[in-house]
Amino acid sequence: MNLHEYQGKEILNSFGVRIQRGIVANTPEEAVDAAKKLTEETGTGWHVIKAQVHAGGRGKGGGVKLAKNLDEVKSISNDILGMMLVTPQTSAEGKLVNQILIAEDVYYPGDSEPNEFYMSVLLNRATGRNMIMYSTEGGMDIEAVAEETPHLIFTEEIDPATGLLPFQARKVAFNLGLSGAAFKEMVKFVTALYTAYVKSDSALFEINPVLKTSDDKIMAVDAKVTLDDNALFRHKDYAAMRDEREENPIEVEARAAGLNYVDLDGNVGCMVNGAGLAMGTMDLIKQAGGDPANFLDVGGTADAQRVETAFGIILKDPNVKAILVNIFGGIVRCDRVAQGVVDAYKNMGDKINVPIICRLQGTNAKEAKELIDNSGMEIISATEFQEAADKVQEVLES
Ligand code: GDP
Ligand code: MN
Repeated sequence: MNLHEYQGKEILNSFGVRIQRGIVANTPEEAVDAAKKLTEETGTGWHVIKAQVHAGGRGKGGGVKLAKNLDEVKSISNDILGMMLVTPQTSAEGKLVNQILIAEDVYYPGDSEPNEFYMSVLLNRATGRNMIMYSTEGGMDIEAVAEETPHLIFTEEIDPATGLLPFQARKVAFNLGLSGAAFKEMVKFVTALYTAYVKSDSALFEINPVLKTSDDKIMAVDAKVTLDDNALFRHKDYAAMRDEREENPIEVEARAAGLNYVDLDGNVGCMVNGAGLAMGTMDLIKQAGGDPANFLDVGGTADAQRVETAFGIILKDPNVKAILVNIFGGIVRCDRVAQGVVDAYKNMGDKINVPIICRLQGTNAKEAKELIDNSGMEIISATEFQEAADKVQEVLES
């Protein structure tokens, strides 16, 4: 689950990571109040107004602006709130800005060289270990740095048995070219950041930029935080940070129905039980020349109600041109699933406007196939996996 910058910073702050301070606002009036409050706390009269959307590159799209007085806070907030922000990471129509963060200006006027670093914490899947990835080339496009000057990106892997060791935090500070007070601050920053990553059960932290101010403070100016969905049950306060306005509406609906659905770009809707079979099904569709429109795992109980809900969700995607039902009857019997498919088809009537290919294998597969073939419904049955994928291609090409 992705968080907004202000939420990510809240989590970082709770673990003692220094952040650029800010207050979230929903209206220009709230923004002005926030700016006044920040001035009382920090002494700075300048503020940055930052669009809160789940996409990076906001600065490039005009979603991050400096305000030098309260009038500017008001007018800039008015401009950014409600805008469709287009960044290199959004679609062409952009994302609606519902909230803004009013933050203290930490790039002190007269600071000739604000020092911006890049830092992320993530899992290295190849080694199964967390790592800190960091670079002196912060603030800009880290993808471009990786492409053009990969030697400027450092990584530090952490042994899960020991956690981050003090020498590793010092190495990070050293490689970033720091000394004196800034060095010490960076050691503290990295240590707190790594603790926050582990304790919050996050899947990704990306802090770009990490800023060194001219008075040697190290702080997170931006925060991209992705939490591990599977650990949300033990972080009720984080789970409440979900902003469904930022998420794919079909995925939101599927989650509410208890279905595991991931939206993809292709045109073959997939209804499968079990994540492994879902992956296998997507591979086979690809191999047969098709392209999956989604990943949908209906789980163990594929009764008519559930199958109907699943069909409804798959059909919300206008790109879907055929649906492949691929269910293995282990715990659930195939004939029950077949009945579910037939009943759902009957109930939904002409809402089902694409061909359905149904392959049921496992307990009572034969009875299931008969049930489908004799149902009088336009459901194409298949026995073998390959056969099912080929039949999908046939209907797509006809
Ligand atoms: P992103 O574009 O979505 O990654 O958003 P960031 O939070 O990284 O902000 C974009 C850029 O705005 C940063 O790289 C900074 O250069 C600039 N910026 C952020 N905070 C401040 C600030 O307090 N003062 C000034 N002058 N610039 C800032
Ligand atoms: Mn950034």
